[in-house]
Amino acid sequence: MLNSFRAVITGSSSGIGLGIAEAFAAAGCGLVINGIATPSEVRSLSERLRLKGAEKVVFHPADVAEPEQCVSLIRDAEAELGAIDILVNNAGIQYVAPTEQFPVDRWDAILATNLSAAFHTIRAALPGMQGRSSGRIINIASVHGLVASIHKSAYVAAKHGLVGLTKVVALENALNGITCNAICPGWVLTQLLQKQIDNLAVEGHISSDAAARQMLREKQPSGQFTTVEDVAALALFLCSPAASNITGASFTLDGGWTAQ
Ligand code: NAD
Repeated sequence: MLNSFRAVITGSSSGIGLGIAEAFAAAGCGLVINGIATPSEVRSLSERLRLKGAEKVVFHPADVAEPEQCVSLIRDAEAELGAIDILVNNAGIQYVAPTEQFPVDRWDAILATNLSAAFHTIRAALPGMQGRSSGRIINIASVHGLVASIHKSAYVAAKHGLVGLTKVVALENALNGITCNAICPGWVLTQLLQKQIDNLAVEGHISSDAAARQMLREKQPSGQFTTVEDVAALALFLCSPAASNITGASFTLDGGWTAQ
């Protein structure tokens, strides 16, 4: 469906970003992937994506918390792929603590990675997309871009900011053939969430399975995790012709979390 489309996906060495990369590879896209990974992980990831059907796979090691590395990521991707049709801002980190005890360096790192990185990549990618009057930008936000939970001041602030940025970019480019949307998942079982489950298990002296069930019970009425494949399928849809008039929207995939 997206044959010959060229996509950049930040934070695609694991979890949701990797799931999106796999779905785009299966659709025949050329890909620039990114994230924190060892050379042998990069080799096996790239091979896996090529086998899935990616037209081309290039790994870029940008640390997206650094503005100039975001710009290098976009410029190098344009050079490698010829142009960028799809930009997915997915890289993200988490830290959990009460606001008055929240370490300042964790606040800065979360804002840089989960919010400012998207501004820098979008800022760098827009001129190319505007020149071709075509582009799709997808920001992986979170239910925490729409509602709050305790002890997540930086994450909730960054994700609310990302939803706001999504709307502004959508409005500014509504006549340019460029859409910009946010995907807002609830709990997705990835390494980012596993760390929170493990902490809950230690604090509550319960098993990891019991901690996972408790997290679902507290927030996600369906009682089920959203899967990486669910998120990837929605991202793929947002790049399809049927989604050409969907822009500035936030899509929840949260088992009813935000309906409460
Ligand atoms: P993950 O830890 O599996 O993946 C995060 C990715 O970001 C990895 O590839 C990692 O290498 C990369 N990354 C982290 N810091 C980076 C940096 N400075 N520069 C470049 N890459 C960096 O986690 P995930 O759950 O797949 O998270 C992906 C996105 O989905 C995040 O933005 C997260 O906030 C969001 N999200 C996750 C959940 C969930 O329950 N897992 C729910 C809602 C939203």
